[in-house]
Amino acid sequence: MDIAFIGLGIMGKPMALNLHNAGHTVFVHGRRAESMTPLCDGGCTRCDSPAEAASRAEIIIVMVSDTPDVEQVIFGDNGVIHGAKPGSVVVDMSTISPTATRRFADDLRARGIEMLDAPVSGGDVGAINATLSIMVGGKPEVFDRVKPVFEALGKNIVLVGDNGAGQVAKACNQIVVAVSIEGVAEALTFARKNGVDPAKVRDALMGGFAGSRILEVHGKRMLDNAYPPGFKTKLHRKDMNIVMQTAHELGLDLPAAALVTEHLEVLMNAGDAELDSAAVMKVVENLSGMER
Ligand code: NAP
Repeated sequence: MDIAFIGLGIMGKPMALNLHNAGHTVFVHGRRAESMTPLCDGGCTRCDSPAEAASRAEIIIVMVSDTPDVEQVIFGDNGVIHGAKPGSVVVDMSTISPTATRRFADDLRARGIEMLDAPVSGGDVGAINATLSIMVGGKPEVFDRVKPVFEALGKNIVLVGDNGAGQVAKACNQIVVAVSIEGVAEALTFARKNGVDPAKVRDALMGGFAGSRILEVHGKRMLDNAYPPGFKTKLHRKDMNIVMQTAHELGLDLPAAALVTEHLEVLMNAGDAELDSAAVMKVVENLSGMER
């Protein structure tokens, strides 16, 4: 299939490469020209704008940072809408607002262009190994058309509902991950203050109901007191802002999510935006005067 891929960061670059390796013809665009070079050396075709990439493809994948970035790439000057053919499909795999996503889908449909929201979970490792979880919102017939493309990128591919439902699922994912990180940080701090080895506590907990990928992966980072990303604090804060903004629009009260959002904000203000978000542990330790 002819695929445009726009946004070649930590996630986008390996995803575009996996599509090329699966036999698709991939037209890439990155905001920084140099971000396209390794992909073009590998056989993808360089495009100077989102509009140019979109004009050459039937599926147009967007993988940029935040809601305003997706809006700019699709609707801005030289954006996707200035090149996309009627009948093509925009697949936004960035993590952005569900409310804005529904608006984007309506605006594209008015121009004869379909849209799926398809945010992912699984991190850079999942992007490289093509084992991402992909949460999709959109029409079933459009999902069926794009499914072979998703299969080159991930393993657990679920059509959750109509447009926006994929982003809602991703927000749910981020609530569970964030609140779990906070819980693991508090538990390991509780162990240490009690004079009990937190590493042994983690081993003991792994086999029971408290066992989880968060206890395993993020818990290890907390024990090591080392937080290379992973998933950056600034991106997790962005996602929790999406959660809290959407909750506010709906009149929902999410006290645990609100607490972790505040802790991510404290980390940002301490200059730790680039650390893995397991560094929430530093905030928990600081609250009890237990910094290492
Ligand atoms: P990243 O490394 O920061 O890459 C983002 C890319 O988007 C960059 O190449 C950037 O271009 C481009 N971009 C941003 N704003 C743009 C704009 N207005 N116009 C054109 N290009 C723009 O981020 P990432 O880790 O790949 O994440 C991408 C998305 O996936 C985010 O929504 C993130 O929340 C989500 N996600 C990330 C992970 C993870 O573990 N990293 C996991 C799941 C989901 P420049 O290079 O010019 O800055």
